[in-house]
Amino acid sequence: MRVKDLLKKKPIVISQDATIREAASLMTREQVGLLVLVDLSSPSKPVAVVSERDIIRAVSRGMNLDSKVETISSKKIVTVLQEDDVGAAAAKINSNKIRHLVVLDKLGRLAGVLSLRDLVAEKATLQAIISSYQSETLPGGD
Ligand code: AMP
Repeated sequence: MRVKDLLKKKPIVISQDATIREAASLMTREQVGLLVLVDLSSPSKPVAVVSERDIIRAVSRGMNLDSKVETISSKKIVTVLQEDDVGAAAAKINSNKIRHLVVLDKLGRLAGVLSLRDLVAEKATLQAIISSYQSETLPGGD
């Protein structure tokens, strides 16, 4: 099974100039846990990502929610290609300790966001996830 088979909705993007408050509001409205930050003049080119965890951290630190969301975003984006196997995606989610992957097409354009929830909702991917966790976390046999 390929990553593209699990993509259910279009990626939710937000301007890199938006505020933390606007990002939180968009996440709530769209019911997603990750937004892709873009320059609105090239909306298919991801610049950074912000997850609900980043928002919670900002709130707990007492940050001004009118600051730019970019200041709390992750700029080194972990990606997969839409043609990649879901097992490879599961391994990336596990090894990077994140719950979302940005999905790109062959030309490097934004194609979607794959969440851990999308992966576990699909029975066929569960075995791949379990294998990935076992190879990462279990000591080698002797
Ligand atoms: P998450 O567990 O996905 O909610 O995110 C945990 C942390 O990882 C947050 O700081 C996110 O900004 C970051 N993060 C999540 N997904 C990605 C991704 N695909 N690329 C880079 N950083 C990410």
